[in-house]
Amino acid sequence: MPVIELQDVSRLYGFGDATTLALDEVNLTIEKGEFVAVMGPSGCGKSTLMNIIGLLDHPSHGSYKLYDRYVDRLRPSQAAKARRDTIGFIFQSFNLLPKLTVLENVALPLVYKGIKPVKRLKLASNMLERVGMQNREYFFPSQLSGGQVQCAAIARALVNDPNLLIADEPTGNLDSAGSRLVMELMSELHKMGNTIIFVTHNPELTRYATRVVYMRDGTIVHDEKKSLGEVAQTARRMMYTLPVASEEDDLAGVSTLMKALPAKPTKSRQKAAKKTTTKGTKTTRRKARR
Ligand code: ADP
Repeated sequence: MPVIELQDVSRLYGFGDATTLALDEVNLTIEKGEFVAVMGPSGCGKSTLMNIIGLLDHPSHGSYKLYDRYVDRLRPSQAAKARRDTIGFIFQSFNLLPKLTVLENVALPLVYKGIKPVKRLKLASNMLERVGMQNREYFFPSQLSGGQVQCAAIARALVNDPNLLIADEPTGNLDSAGSRLVMELMSELHKMGNTIIFVTHNPELTRYATRVVYMRDGTIVHDEKKSLGEVAQTARRMMYTLPVASEEDDLAGVSTLMKALPAKPTKSRQKAAKKTTTKGTKTTRRKARR
């Protein structure tokens, strides 16, 4: 059974001359148990798509069925209930409350369900154990590494036991160790039967996915099913046909696929560009899209 069915979904922002078409008649079906990576340049509509799928926003046109139920016209309170019962949302910025302990943060969504305090903390503690964070229960977010904070955010997203996890650039603010921690945790959740959709700029992280959806200008331009453990073919091709901008960009985890080269070339970039030209490799430069 499909978990998500989007049909001709468009999302417009603004009015008149200032109208932006963030999504343009998107059709997407995601089955139970899929682990989907969404890629595309900045501004192509990835977050808008995640917000609509996560019931944080609604389409201007088109229909959205979540677990076989039309949800594109729900009232805010109905959307909040559907979200609470079925969806865990993880953002790029971790959004933990700094004055609460990790345990209290994870227990927070259960307050809105009316669960008693002792039970809340027990459920939160179980969830932290599941994500390998039980020994950090009484820490404050500021005392954790970025990867650990994101794992706590994942525990919080999962405490209501949703079957669908949506993550908008969950590793965007993490170093490579933190990214691995988070991706391996999501991979475990996938093995347990959860459906996961995540946005990434990093072609390497497509290894964890079973499917990669590529977006451009508000539409899906390519949709690729793949085996776990491999980098998606299209992502790999783009990785090796575009020049690496610089060593620093590489270290910062900036993807050569999704980030355009800045207008002002640095010395190292000029050198890299020269090298590629002498080798006769075909290179493509994209105009910066912001
Ligand atoms: P991505 O996540 O791929 O970077 P977004 O979904 O954030 O892209 O944005 C898609 C387009 O919609 C962009 O042109 C962006 O400027 C525009 N957009 C997104 N949110 C809003 C908003 N709240 N108001 C106006 N325009 C928006």
